[in-house]
Amino acid sequence: MASAAPTDPTPAIAQDVLGAVRQVLGTPNGMIPLHEPEFAGNEWAYVKECIDTGWVSSVGSYVNRIEGDLADFTGASHAVATANGTAALHICLLLAGVEPGDEVLLPTLTFIATANAVSYIGATPHFVDSETRTLGVDAERLDAHLREVAEISGDRCVNRRTGATIRALVVMHAFGHPCDLDALAEVAARWKIVLVEDAAESLGSYYKGRHTGNVGRIAALSFNGNKVMTTGGGGAILTNDPELGRHAKHLTTTARVPHRWNFIHDEVGYNYRLPNLNAALGCAQLERVPGMIERKRKLADRYAAAFAEVPGVRFLVEPAQCVSNYWLNTIVLDAAQADAHEAVLGVLNDADYMSRPLWTLMHRLPMYAACPRADVSVAEGLAAAVINLPSSPKLAD
Ligand SMILES: *Cc1c(COP(=O)(O)O)cnc(C)c1O
Repeated sequence: MASAAPTDPTPAIAQDVLGAVRQVLGTPNGMIPLHEPEFAGNEWAYVKECIDTGWVSSVGSYVNRIEGDLADFTGASHAVATANGTAALHICLLLAGVEPGDEVLLPTLTFIATANAVSYIGATPHFVDSETRTLGVDAERLDAHLREVAEISGDRCVNRRTGATIRALVVMHAFGHPCDLDALAEVAARWKIVLVEDAAESLGSYYKGRHTGNVGRIAALSFNGNKVMTTGGGGAILTNDPELGRHAKHLTTTARVPHRWNFIHDEVGYNYRLPNLNAALGCAQLERVPGMIERKRKLADRYAAAFAEVPGVRFLVEPAQCVSNYWLNTIVLDAAQADAHEAVLGVLNDADYMSRPLWTLMHRLPMYAACPRADVSVAEGLAAAVINLPSSPKLAD
């Protein structure tokens, strides 16, 4: 392993990480992106069919087909395609019963969409901590926090400090690694809080044999361009409750009452449907998801082997009893190496391996800084230590 010369300000760990990444990916010929979409199957044929037939917009056979295919793939009884993952989360929270003035528990360690969806309803995000093993919400620390700030009043969980109802808990499967769903579902049930899964990153990830998104009452997927599969932009709602499935479809399609010519809407709905053009792309992508994940898992194995030789760095592996899609490969620097975090990112990006830190934690963003929160010191430690590495399936070839 290379070590820095005495006059070189680059810490040795940065050279070690660079060496491990180079061992897996070889020497780049131009910037290697973090996650690149791959269109190698029926994508062109299905999209062309939409254009040839004129069925590009809000109605068409591919929308029905992707909803059926997603239900089959995930094992959820109902799947509703949406314009994006954020829209899916918004509807999930409405259907979880979240109302203006409520609080919704969610990890501070997540992408902005999770918190924004709460705000769209006029509810308040209430941030909780994550665990180092999965990067997902820590069930034990969540329970301890609730014992400190909450009480059950009738059939509601109430924040004693703010008086607000804590209506829902959104958990997120970070970088495709399932969080500790059984423990989290137990805490949520005991505190009379509805469990919602932000499964935007975890298509093809399984918790104890069940596809993620099946444990909470309702879940959101994303098909943004950087996710495991893409529809250009898009998402889906998953649920095993037939009434929620029906209502999700209704709300995402302007709440229009079926009629041959009259436009009648029976509640405030949303234009959140996925266009047929995007659904066509998605149908072709979903056919290829198992193969893409197989290659992503191979790539992850190579990273794991390379980083096993690097002291001071932990390669994040799938949690016990889980299968991860390894959406984004992740290393965690030991606390003693946290000072080198920026330097490692600099060295990797300078060498054309696109790498990035965690999202800025939600409670550190200006619009969410005053929101209620638990002690989030574990997430703060992770923010100073996590680095995502290039993870496109083609890097395994
Ligand atoms: C990608 C993502 C979403 C949804 O994003 P869209 O771009 O709206 O599809 C939501 N939550 C998390 C954690 C995500 O990574």
